[in-house]
Amino acid sequence: FSDITPLCKLSPSHKNVQRMPLDQSRLEPQVDFLRNLFSSTLGLGSAEKVLDELTLEGVARYIKSGKCKNIICMVGAGISTSAGIPDFRSPGTGLYANLQKYNLPYPEAIFQIDYFKQHPEPFFALAKELYPGQFKPTICHYFIKMLKEKGLLRRCYSQNIDTLERVAGLEGDDLIEAHGTFYTSHCVSFCCRKEYNLDWMKEKIFSDDIPKCDKCQSLVKPDIVFFGENLPVRFFTAMKMDFPRCDLLIVMGTSLQVQPFAGLVGRVSKSCPRLLINMEKAGQADPLLGMLGFGGGMDFDSDKAYRDVAHISTCDDGCLALADLLGWKAELEELVKQEHAKIDSQDKKEKSVESKGAAAKSDTASASAEPKAEE
Ligand SMILES: [Zn+2]
Repeated sequence: FSDITPLCKLSPSHKNVQRMPLDQSRLEPQVDFLRNLFSSTLGLGSAEKVLDELTLEGVARYIKSGKCKNIICMVGAGISTSAGIPDFRSPGTGLYANLQKYNLPYPEAIFQIDYFKQHPEPFFALAKELYPGQFKPTICHYFIKMLKEKGLLRRCYSQNIDTLERVAGLEGDDLIEAHGTFYTSHCVSFCCRKEYNLDWMKEKIFSDDIPKCDKCQSLVKPDIVFFGENLPVRFFTAMKMDFPRCDLLIVMGTSLQVQPFAGLVGRVSKSCPRLLINMEKAGQADPLLGMLGFGGGMDFDSDKAYRDVAHISTCDDGCLALADLLGWKAELEELVKQEHAKIDSQDKKEKSVESKGAAAKSDTASASAEPKAEE
């Protein structure tokens, strides 16, 4: 993000403002940025009504107007449910009820970093049980990819660890994986920290091996954030730069209950429209805190509502409806079709290599040997 001038250079001192007035086009975005920064961090600034109507149609007209170029998507487990990805760590999903066989001191221990370092077996057994058969992104994932292709996406903040954003074509810089990712793993030893990829980890998980670093024999852990671990540093640094500049926040598939992720909705400027696509309303301001002037939660329904839109549907349906209003529907459907076909043919190839690999293992031949026709 070379366009981001360091904040120290943006100090609104009289001197700086006088030095730059000639180039208005350059100055204005910076002033906007400062205004938004103050309004979001200090609760100052005016609340301008940007949408002509608090509906999906109103949001679509705003996007089409060309006035919004810094869309931030905040996404949660709900965008991956139609891909068959289980909600891996949230309590209350039925998952914790299945953990009795592991003799855990308490269910959450399986995702507790200290417990994991002593007893990694339950976590890896569960990872094997829950490992998705296929990594196939949803319509919603590809909608976010389309925002990127059209130059409208500032960044996607995801709570998911399923790597589907990457499979859909978002790159590391487009993404903040707030709760980490299975995409990479690292040796837990502070002196080593050797990185391993998803294929390596998958192989260990499915052969019931506890993954050990081949350099130092320490445990290797997927880069998902366990309880007791900090969120990635990038989450905090990018957040400070991104949210004051955001001109449309799209929140999808999350009930906004996990902090600090949920609090991000309050970090955009007071004028920034916020669209929620979810099966139920979420993130609404606590009435008491709202009265005291804190919060920054969503307001869809009150007399004072002026910028928050709730579209109650699945994430896929909501994205299709929005794409339709934007005139992108055919393009989105084509993208999904093509990408899914690509993944299917890739899966077929991998499966045939795997079955050959398994056959080859028994007679000590290498799994990478030239595939022979067997089926
Ligand atoms: Zn190591």
